[in-house]
Amino acid sequence: MPADPLDILRTTFGFPAFRGVQERVVARVMAGDGTLAVMPTGAGKSLCYQLPALARRGTAVVISPLIALMHDQVRSAEAFGIHAATLTSADSDRDETMRRFREGELDLLYVAPERASNPGFRELLRLTELSLFAIDEAHCVSEWGHDFRPDYRLLRPLLDAFPQVPRLALTATADEHTRADILQQLGLPQDGLIVAGFDRPNIQYRISPRDGLAQQLKAFIAEQEGAGIVYAPTRDATERLAAQIAEAGRPTRAYHAGLDPAVRAKNQRDFVASEDMVMVATIAFGMGIDKPDVRFVAHAGLPKSIEAYYQETGRAGRDGEPAVAQLFWGAEDFARARKRLGEVDDARVAGERTRLNALAQLVETSECRRAVLLRHFGEHPATTCGNCDNCLSPPATVDVTTVARKLLSAAFRTEMRFGVGHLIDVLAGRDTDKVISNGHNRLSVFGIADEEELKLVRPVARVLIARDALRADDYGGLSFGPSARPILKGEESVGLVVQPKRERRRKRAAQE
Ligand code: ADP
Ligand code: ZN
Repeated sequence: MPADPLDILRTTFGFPAFRGVQERVVARVMAGDGTLAVMPTGAGKSLCYQLPALARRGTAVVISPLIALMHDQVRSAEAFGIHAATLTSADSDRDETMRRFREGELDLLYVAPERASNPGFRELLRLTELSLFAIDEAHCVSEWGHDFRPDYRLLRPLLDAFPQVPRLALTATADEHTRADILQQLGLPQDGLIVAGFDRPNIQYRISPRDGLAQQLKAFIAEQEGAGIVYAPTRDATERLAAQIAEAGRPTRAYHAGLDPAVRAKNQRDFVASEDMVMVATIAFGMGIDKPDVRFVAHAGLPKSIEAYYQETGRAGRDGEPAVAQLFWGAEDFARARKRLGEVDDARVAGERTRLNALAQLVETSECRRAVLLRHFGEHPATTCGNCDNCLSPPATVDVTTVARKLLSAAFRTEMRFGVGHLIDVLAGRDTDKVISNGHNRLSVFGIADEEELKLVRPVARVLIARDALRADDYGGLSFGPSARPILKGEESVGLVVQPKRERRRKRAAQE
């Protein structure tokens, strides 16, 4: 077997070249260095561990959270002639898999994280040479991540028991905070972080308030060519919407955990084979499904986080051809999510709130959706993309530059530590205890905003955060981002979307 990665890429995988950061990731793993690869869906994460698994001696242990996903991965690895197997409670051929593993016949062994704590499993791993540990969906290890799974915390002792085996963590979705946490939790070096560009230029992002969802969906789908996915929040909604969409004459299927497994599998097969089917599904659908020509993804309700939105919309247009991502949201979605915050344990509530605010900014912004999205992932995109609803038909806005400058000044004068509530008190000239004890009643910005302006401060704060003129810390304290200066200096203006009355009600609920 050739040990040169490029040879293996061409002969085994049949790809002429590495894509994006794959080459850097593979090189680090080959050198035995701990690595965290943050790569968007479709960027080719699997190859980053599959290839070193072939090029290095021994078997690669791949930790993955979903059994269904593992079986898909094994099938696609085997299609390349890679020797792969899963070791899960769902497998009846475990003895045979263990034999193959012991005898060094496997390139890849997929396991679920809960197995990692099993002492028998650790002993099994000692029986043969290991080429690497690959930790898929690595954001699950972080309480900051949007999908924390306690079992992932069992991995560290396992990894540490094999210090000579390189570790590669992979995820499609991790904001900066989560990335730092993953590095720490899995014992990876700071310089081991490799982040791929997140832009998916062929996806057109559109976001609108819900207003007669079934009708909106039918109208949207009527405009679209090709197969698409509609994500619905519940099983019931899935079935109901599927029936409504089917009325419009498109072949339609539903997909959710409550369906008979045989029906579910058939619906999925039908969808993958179809060129014009609409799959109405819960978000579990789409993971690990290889259908590059999905032409649209519609959300019937708010996703869980920007990461989830990015991942779910990312299932569209993996072939690089134009695709559309349409999100319909309602204030009820935010109200429900904020209520759920009350049930989250203290350690996670700040993270959850930050996530929700980020979503609110994305749906409310009058600016380029792509820019907001990419900035969320730590990139520095152009201010317009020309391929989102706001760029294509800019919404009507009112000029709120004056309010924005007053708010920025107030943040600056109070030393950029306070949240918007306190800044409103200062701008309003209210002598609250907190204002007095901090001496903020003596500042030049004390009482400089009138009633009308005060009403705009909260929405303006969100616009400024979306634009990276203000940054909120975990406790809501606002400080300047790089876009603050040009606004303060009068070089840039700030607009606020004018909402029709009905939408205004929705927005209010989103903000509470
Ligand atoms: P991810 O797990 O990051 O979502 P996958 O590993 O499923 O992505 O890869 C997405 C698709 O890209 C797969 O069909 C895979 O075979 C293909 N792919 C991966 N690497 C390359 C490459 N270097 N050149 C061409 N296609 C690639
Ligand atoms: Zn845009």
